[in-house]
Amino acid sequence: MNTIGMKVLKFGGTSVGSAQRMQEVAKLINDGERKIVVLSAMSGTTNTLVEISDYLYKKNPEGANEIINRLEAKYRKHIDELYATSEYRQKGWDLVKSHFDLIRSYTKDLFTLFEEKVILAQGELISTGMMNYYLQECGVNAVLLPALEFMRTDKNAEPDPVYIKEKLQMQLELHPDADIYITQGFICRNAYGEIDNLQRGGSDYTASLIGAAVQASEIQIWTDIDGMHNNDPRIVDKTSPVRHLQFEEAAELAYFGAKILHPTCIQPAKYANIPVRLLNTMDPQAEGTLICNDTEKGRIKAVAAKDNITAIKIKSSRMLLAYGFLRKVFEIFESYQTSIDMICTSEVGVSVSIDNVKHLNEILDDLKKYGTVTVDRDMCIVCVVGDLDWENLGFEAKALDAMRDIPVRMISYGGSNYNISFLIRECDKKAALQSLSKALFNEG
Ligand code: ADP
Ligand code: ASP
Ligand code: MG
Repeated sequence: MNTIGMKVLKFGGTSVGSAQRMQEVAKLINDGERKIVVLSAMSGTTNTLVEISDYLYKKNPEGANEIINRLEAKYRKHIDELYATSEYRQKGWDLVKSHFDLIRSYTKDLFTLFEEKVILAQGELISTGMMNYYLQECGVNAVLLPALEFMRTDKNAEPDPVYIKEKLQMQLELHPDADIYITQGFICRNAYGEIDNLQRGGSDYTASLIGAAVQASEIQIWTDIDGMHNNDPRIVDKTSPVRHLQFEEAAELAYFGAKILHPTCIQPAKYANIPVRLLNTMDPQAEGTLICNDTEKGRIKAVAAKDNITAIKIKSSRMLLAYGFLRKVFEIFESYQTSIDMICTSEVGVSVSIDNVKHLNEILDDLKKYGTVTVDRDMCIVCVVGDLDWENLGFEAKALDAMRDIPVRMISYGGSNYNISFLIRECDKKAALQSLSKALFNEG
């Protein structure tokens, strides 16, 4: 089946967060063009499933059951509102019941990571099942593509593009005449065939993996805002949409905290050179943001911030820059599978920042062999993204000037042509973002 040129559209939790929203999405996607539609769980669902799992880990099935019952009641209400006919309402109730029965079955026995992954998968399975029935009730020629049959990660927990492409193609070929293919974001199987997921917010990743697998003409990420804004709208009062981003710029922003995109989502699209468009379900006519390979010269695009960062400084007891020293330091982080975000060096020491503190104590113990180690917790990386080629004059000075009243722990510039990053205290984040908006975009 020739899939080249199809579009892949992903709708996030808020976009399918109520019966009415689902009906609006159905209208949006039913435009006569053949497409693959990736859906998240209805908003709040995955968080609630995490809460249920937490109760079960703590061996509190009563607590878990209370939340399960509440969530199921919510879904029954959604079903009542979504469907017009008693036939489909019954189908909807049966669908919801089967998933909640499965969740309940896990309240009785030993609860491990494996069971948790199965519970977390139910949100996307329900939302896609609901949408598929709704489209069928409306007479649309839609089919469900089971993501668990084609979305898979390998032994390194990385998606396996060859497997995905082959199995997805097989699934599509089972329904060559369908107009709309609905599938689940976020969920997958791991290398052992167990149910797993692509991490929280991972439905964006599903969409770009599918886009790359079918050589889509475009990947659209539909959400609750009109594209990537030039600063975090949850923190800064006045922000505006950025119309164009280069893949690298979008990847930097996503990695450094712009929640609108999952950090890994850009990579498959970039390698397959498929444009990604960020669009607003609440305002479908809005232009949104187009992410592609073109760079806009001489422009700073946006600012993002990433929390929960820990800074570690190693001051060498001997001469630091003796060759081999940095290798030894990096090997310690590598051996604990902890990636480093920022690095700054001087003649006497090196500072790095990490966000994964799972092995912090072991890392610190190992580092102490090489010098005096100090740690700063509750830090945050503020990242300014745009055309920051070193030959452009004035941009880094402008960003630095905006940080005039903020204590800055580390600065990183020159690692790529696209960003300058500051490490500051988390409690200074809001002031820093506001000041940057004012200095760089005359907003905020
Ligand atoms: P979805 O459920 O559709 O995946 P998300 O909540 O994951 O949606 O992402 C959309 C949210 O990202 C927006 O509501 C907004 O609050 C937040 N966000 C954070 N930074 C940015 C940014 N720079 N531009 C746009 N949205 C952002
Ligand atoms: N439902 C999942 C989550 O809330 C995946 C997603 O929405 O992208 O993390
Ligand atoms: Mg998201």
